[in-house]
Amino acid sequence: MNSFAITNVAIFTVDPADRVIPCGTLIVQQGRIVSLGTTEAIQVPPDIPVIDASGHALLPGLIDCHSHSSLMRGVTENMQLMEWLPYYQLEHRALTEEYAFHSARLCYLEALKSGTTCVMDMYRFMHRCAEAAEEVGLRVNLAPYVADAPGKDFFASLAENHTLIHSHHGSQNGRIQVWMGLEHLFYCTADAYTQALQAQRDYGVGIHTHACEQREEDQAVERHFGRRSIAQLDHYGILGERTLLAHCVWLNDDEIKRIADTGTAIAHCPVSNAKLASGVARVPEMLAAGITVGLGTDGPVCNNSLSLFEEMKFASLIQKATRLEATLLPASQMLRMATINGARALGLDRDIGSLEVGKCADLLLLDLGMPNMTPAQVDAQGGNVLWNLVFAAGSQNVASVWVDGRQLIANGQTTRLNEREVILEAQAHGLALFERCRDISHLKSTMLGD
Ligand SMILES: [Zn+2]
Repeated sequence: MNSFAITNVAIFTVDPADRVIPCGTLIVQQGRIVSLGTTEAIQVPPDIPVIDASGHALLPGLIDCHSHSSLMRGVTENMQLMEWLPYYQLEHRALTEEYAFHSARLCYLEALKSGTTCVMDMYRFMHRCAEAAEEVGLRVNLAPYVADAPGKDFFASLAENHTLIHSHHGSQNGRIQVWMGLEHLFYCTADAYTQALQAQRDYGVGIHTHACEQREEDQAVERHFGRRSIAQLDHYGILGERTLLAHCVWLNDDEIKRIADTGTAIAHCPVSNAKLASGVARVPEMLAAGITVGLGTDGPVCNNSLSLFEEMKFASLIQKATRLEATLLPASQMLRMATINGARALGLDRDIGSLEVGKCADLLLLDLGMPNMTPAQVDAQGGNVLWNLVFAAGSQNVASVWVDGRQLIANGQTTRLNEREVILEAQAHGLALFERCRDISHLKSTMLGD
């Protein structure tokens, strides 16, 4: 059903004017939005199915700008980033193609059921992740975990990243995008940055990497390279409009300005940053400088949830709480970060991130008739529903989800795959992977490889 109409629905467009249509109709044909407006004004063609969605809110699918698929969850707790990384590396030493497939399929399913329609996934064996994305139906940016520094050969290689670009970039009707993925300054040689830039020039792909996540990490970078993280990445030449940096918790004013001036985007991961005791990113300053800031979950290992509803709420509250300023990061801004800003960070804002004519029908329909959203009142400014979308809504409200005009969730259930089977297989593979990690736990190394 790639052509259909949704009527009598509260539409939160997240367009440049943040237009809200309290009782609207949106029409999709061949997977694209062809018109939207008030139900009174929009004529529905007679030959397409009509979904009466009264009592619901329609918004763009949410976008997770930084995640790592994984079968590990709740097994590396109570640790700071530096303490945690060696445990995380064990998963990668133990990982096989088969585990990667089940990780990705499980995580994409969880994301989809949480209202997320597009994920930037940095992971391994990503041809299998593309297979998982096809089964689940999710839109996915694939950034292999490239590490070419000595002792890090258990991550992905530059050659694998190039192969993936050739085999999968633009596949599945454009839903699969491949980026160059560079793990971190300590994991990659200067050559990796040169090659990533070359791939960017040759194929127009983006570059995704981690930066400035923890204070001790940034200090270690400065000791090792003689420059702070952002200056070192700048030295390698990778700051720019097609580069997305995850975290950026410990930026100073000059670094914020440099990131803004170069058009580099940031994936803000507040839950992961809090959980690994990394700190609170200076998001108000980033936004004031004009940086495109999207939201990322950072994956199940260090979150432990893939819900962008949680991420939106937490991102706002942690600023209000730590700066004693209640007006920071209001609901409309959080909704933009989880949708159009995320799309911009991934270079996909021409196609997704808002409900506008010509864009792909990546849609999220939320049930407002539930205790946590009651009472609901929508007006042209959004009413109380706008605030409750960010501070009250959760995965339980996800009624339907479409990606590329294909309905992947209906009545909260998947339409294309056997959810029970996916979970049972992930359960079996997950426990087996725990075991493999325990068996090789003597191989733990520190982040610096020493
Ligand atoms: Zn990460």
